[in-house]
Amino acid sequence: MATATVSTTKHKHIDIKRNDTVKVISGRDAGKEGRVLRIFPKTGRILVEHVMVVKKHVRPNPQKNVKGGIAEQESRIAISNVQLVCPSCGPVRIGHEERGDRKVRVCKKCGTTLDK
Ligand SMILES: [Zn+2]
Repeated sequence: MATATVSTTKHKHIDIKRNDTVKVISGRDAGKEGRVLRIFPKTGRILVEHVMVVKKHVRPNPQKNVKGGIAEQESRIAISNVQLVCPSCGPVRIGHEERGDRKVRVCKKCGTTLDK
């Protein structure tokens, strides 16, 4: 068995995980970086902190101690619009390598493991 395999097949597997730092590469917020808050695998979308923030009008709810006004909330963006950020290279394509019995994500540029 090969020690290093880079997957070339197209698949629906999602390479972004919660708490990853990603950079937006297209869309209204292109160029922004943020932390991944949530992943929606079925729709292929994610929520990224401070990215695609929309203002929502909130009704006051005294029972929940919610003040009325305008709240800001992230909206979902397509995973294809972001790239994972390598600590040394910036936004990069992700490769895969087998380390022992587990598969890790690696930076395609410098080969650094992007999983803890
Ligand atoms: Zn790198």
